[in-house]
Amino acid sequence: MSISVQEFGGTSVADSQKILAAARKAVRAQKEGNQVVMVVSAMGKNTDMLVKLAGEITDRPPAREMDMLLSTGEQVSVALMAMAIDSLGHKAISLTGAQIGIVTDSSHTKARIRTISTERMREALQSGNIVIAAGFQGVDQSLNITTLGRGGSDTTAVALAAVLGAEVCEIYTDVDGIYTTDPRIVPEARRTRRISYDEMLELASAGAGVMHNRSIEFAKKFSVPVHVRSSFSDTSGTMIAAEPETPDMPVCGAAKSKMEARVTVLGVPDRPGAALTVFSKIAEKNIAMDMIVQNVGAEGHADISFTVFHDELPAVLKAVEEATAQLGAEGYTYDDEVSKISVVGLGMATQTGVAETMFRTLAEKGINIQMITTSEIKISVLIERRFAQEALRAVHEVFQLDKEPPMPDDHRKAASADSQAETPDEIAARIERMEDLIIEDITLDATQARVTLVGVADVPGLAAQVFDEIAEAGIVVDMIVQSFGRKGHANISFTVPQEDLDRALKLAGELSAAIGCPPPRSCPRVAKLSVFGVGMKSHTGLSARMFRSLSAVGINVDMISTSEVRINVVVDGRDGDRALAALREEFADVLE
Ligand code: ASP
Ligand code: MG
Repeated sequence: MSISVQEFGGTSVADSQKILAAARKAVRAQKEGNQVVMVVSAMGKNTDMLVKLAGEITDRPPAREMDMLLSTGEQVSVALMAMAIDSLGHKAISLTGAQIGIVTDSSHTKARIRTISTERMREALQSGNIVIAAGFQGVDQSLNITTLGRGGSDTTAVALAAVLGAEVCEIYTDVDGIYTTDPRIVPEARRTRRISYDEMLELASAGAGVMHNRSIEFAKKFSVPVHVRSSFSDTSGTMIAAEPETPDMPVCGAAKSKMEARVTVLGVPDRPGAALTVFSKIAEKNIAMDMIVQNVGAEGHADISFTVFHDELPAVLKAVEEATAQLGAEGYTYDDEVSKISVVGLGMATQTGVAETMFRTLAEKGINIQMITTSEIKISVLIERRFAQEALRAVHEVFQLDKEPPMPDDHRKAASADSQAETPDEIAARIERMEDLIIEDITLDATQARVTLVGVADVPGLAAQVFDEIAEAGIVVDMIVQSFGRKGHANISFTVPQEDLDRALKLAGELSAAIGCPPPRSCPRVAKLSVFGVGMKSHTGLSARMFRSLSAVGINVDMISTSEVRINVVVDGRDGDRALAALREEFADVLE
């Protein structure tokens, strides 16, 4: 008999009528011949209320007691849900995380799942019960109650679907699916029928907040199709699975970051290990950095810029101050009035001109791009926050995200055939340390060259002009990084195939001359190293580890780009093999 896991978020169980409605959905699924596991969140804003209550007692509640408190929200809703099912004349049993046997590590308020036992759930299902699992919670080895971080019921649901070998994990929530962008900002936004795990991960970390990111990491690791749908209507929702909606479109979605801040460390000595000092100080504080950009050093010094969540700015500035003093760097600047705009799509990996289109669109609106980073399936730019909504709308329009792409083949069959390859027992065995960082591979691409435009005026339209000309010449640009400008001037670095370097350099030279900046610099042979896997960003400090292992063997990092699913660094081509060896050694323990 197939197992159906259904999650009901807080808004879907906000009052007794909604609880009864959810119960009817579960009963219906059971009547259709499924064994049903429900994962339930705390009612409505209950968790927020508990957080507030704790705040009235103390500014610094002990994390263990916070978990003890917050886990009660879910305990209320599972009990009520079991009563609701019983009242409909069906059998149900509610279980807390501990009763199921969801064992986590001991990092209270952000615990990671270690193992899940399926015995008790299976027994209950076999005797005809609907199992009602409390979301968001677990228990550590000493039986302390833990929680998985806000929004963590999603992660519970997908994890249970994985260990039980469920065909699909249904997420019932207050939105009816995943949209091409936030429909509150762009009313033309379209609900996608389907989105790939990697696209969802990138979009979520770019600011599109529907699902708990860790739940998607799980889904990807264990090939669980996740169906996001509304609990208040019967529309079909969005399927998050391995394949994208269509391979033909370069972009599947656009997002704007919530509250971002930019920090630049000025005049860092340009030698191996210097950047590392900055990153380690921040990694020590467990803070995730985004959009890390360092310009290729001039006169022995480089500027390093990155973005962080606005709320973490005070802690970051403290770390930066220490690093600046230690390195003898010039100083630092920051700006908390910025936004990151990103476009994401698996299709862009194989199509040209996507970055150029984005830059041109912003230029036409007179919006200045302060920083750029690109990875295989994402392009991000940093702009002034007051332009963020306008930029998002413009980008959404230019990539025609409101238009329905042609109906793809039936991916769904393929996906469920995949997940059958492993038995539930095999999955349960693999689930040990299931939330640990996994690196799928580390690769070296030694076919590219780098061009750097130095000191170009930091005004709207420059990036567009550069990449317009390069694209017109039919040159495929891979990685693009624009550093944060100093005194109104920025550096733009990009990589092209080695055989196209001469042509790219000629174009860049003409352009530099025309706009009155110094001649471009280049490196005829660079090595691009990619580390890719799952949890690259939620496990903070990964970039610091990369810098550390490279600087230990005396290798300088020229360019870097980070994303949810990979970190790319570019180094001098002569160092490629040594860099690959160093990274393989550094990550030997987590390499699959
Ligand atoms: N009740 C928890 C929260 O509000 C978990 C969840 O809803 O996913 O964060
Ligand atoms: Mg939720």
